[in-house]
Amino acid sequence: MATKLLLTFAICRLLVTVGLTLDPTELLLLGVDGQLSFDPTDVETASLDFGLLTRAAPPLAVLHPASAQDIAQLVKTAYGSNFGFTVSARGHGHSINGQTQPANGVVVQMSGSKLRASGRIRKPAEPRVWPGERYVDVWGGELWIDVLRSTLEYGLAPKSWTDYLYLSVGGTLSNAGISGQAFNHGPQISNVHELDVVTGKGDLLTCSEEQNSELFHAVLGGLGQFGIITRARISLEPAPQKVRWIRVLYSNFWAFTRDQEYLISLHAQTGSQKFDYVEGFVIVDEGLINNWRSSFFSPRNPVKISSLDPNGGVLYCLEITKNYQESTASTIDKEVESLLKKLNFIPATVFTTDLLYVDFLDRVHKAELKLRSKGLWEVPHPWLNLFVPKSKIADFDKGVFKGILGNKTSGPILIYPMNKNKWDHRSSAVTPDEDVFYLVALLRSALDNGEETHSLEYLTDQNRQILRFCDDAGINAKQYLPHYTTHEEWMDHFGNKWDWFYKMKMEFDPRHILASGQQIFTPSFLSSTKMAASWR
Ligand code: FAD
Repeated sequence: MATKLLLTFAICRLLVTVGLTLDPTELLLLGVDGQLSFDPTDVETASLDFGLLTRAAPPLAVLHPASAQDIAQLVKTAYGSNFGFTVSARGHGHSINGQTQPANGVVVQMSGSKLRASGRIRKPAEPRVWPGERYVDVWGGELWIDVLRSTLEYGLAPKSWTDYLYLSVGGTLSNAGISGQAFNHGPQISNVHELDVVTGKGDLLTCSEEQNSELFHAVLGGLGQFGIITRARISLEPAPQKVRWIRVLYSNFWAFTRDQEYLISLHAQTGSQKFDYVEGFVIVDEGLINNWRSSFFSPRNPVKISSLDPNGGVLYCLEITKNYQESTASTIDKEVESLLKKLNFIPATVFTTDLLYVDFLDRVHKAELKLRSKGLWEVPHPWLNLFVPKSKIADFDKGVFKGILGNKTSGPILIYPMNKNKWDHRSSAVTPDEDVFYLVALLRSALDNGEETHSLEYLTDQNRQILRFCDDAGINAKQYLPHYTTHEEWMDHFGNKWDWFYKMKMEFDPRHILASGQQIFTPSFLSSTKMAASWR
């Protein structure tokens, strides 16, 4: 009885939501091993993301796939449909600007599928580690934390990370996946051997450097435009047991960036002669010391910013790590000391802690739990991530860190350089045209606490000012996790990759069914006006 009621409700909702553009039986007759859900809670969840900035019209349904075949069947139906509907993969929904929300379509919930817990129906494959070959095969919706847990059982771990591990493999590979290891190993998209992908025609294809290589390169960093990643084969290395985690402070931006650039130039050196991770962040107000990225500054290591920079200006924190095994712990002090000797930070500002490798990688989750307990996690996140060419980073510092931001940041501001030669130019990812470029990540949270500088409007307006400043000052920055709403802006973003990107789209998703929430292409069965209307 309940099922019948739900089904009737679903049919009514489909008809009401899409008028006559979709024959609902196309969806209802879909025979999948997983579950096609019309449950209002599922549908509501799928229409939200971490950004909490946009809310699209709710999806028509949510597919909890049991296998790649389920996804292929759904996309094939969408591709062959007389009326047309879109399909968007949703990993952990940690996008900012509604990228997982389909216009008039179905969400494929790749991560945390209910099926896993219930055990009722067939479920996506568990990670499979190949210790001899040093790689792991994982489901596209697997969270990186679970990839880590399974590989550690074999004493192995992926080489390249994001700062936060509760993100899906398919979600980060659709962007790039970067953290402090990227200078050395490249982004996560540079550490993949092979993918299984369901294209926009519903074909399930295996691709790699050797097989269907155009699809392979297009999908990596491809913003979900060419296919849904159902399996990724990820490169592994022996997992370190421990990490020495070090922070040092600078008041001089030039000295800070010179040291960061020096450290990433060591990428070709042997393990003992370089750090394993290089990041950094900007401190423009003392409040940041209590911020989620700064819990590192423990009561044992108190830091009084005013005592370091009497002028109350901007400080910069270099964050580096050295991995080690318990058996080599005796040499770590010497190795670190000899590397630190070459740097020019403010003397007596070395903050050090030793911890397990897994605890270091999972550090942001601890902060998440703290913020959740204070109700500060599920708030709007007007984040802005930019790749800034090395030649312009000093201009950016002057104009943004010491200019537009004033003395309040409302969240962490990361800054660290990467080597372009660690990025495969054949992938879809877009980076500036210089050998070294910086990630600048303004990871701010908006709060409704009556303070103007914390409000969403204020922070959004600051983001606009920053982007305008970059244009006016000729910074040639590229957005990471890009968000644009016009065709012209997307063409400009991709630059000389655009023609190829468009060609790949026509080849692998000619009806523009996939990932319409990115707003790059309008589905062939929707006018652009109707597409715009599906966004509120
Ligand atoms: P979703 O938001 O679910 O999806 C993102 C896009 O990818 C959508 O267009 C979606 O359709 C598509 N997609 C999802 N799954 C698939 C699939 N299987 N196949 C094809 N397309 C797919 N990024 C970094 O690089 N480094 C960081 O250190 C970092 N830290 C972060 C910390 C936090 C707290 C948050 C919220 C985000 C962070 N990010 C970071 C950004 C993150 O990598 C992206 O937002 C990523 O898309 C999130 O993964 P997800 O699984 O939530 O993807």
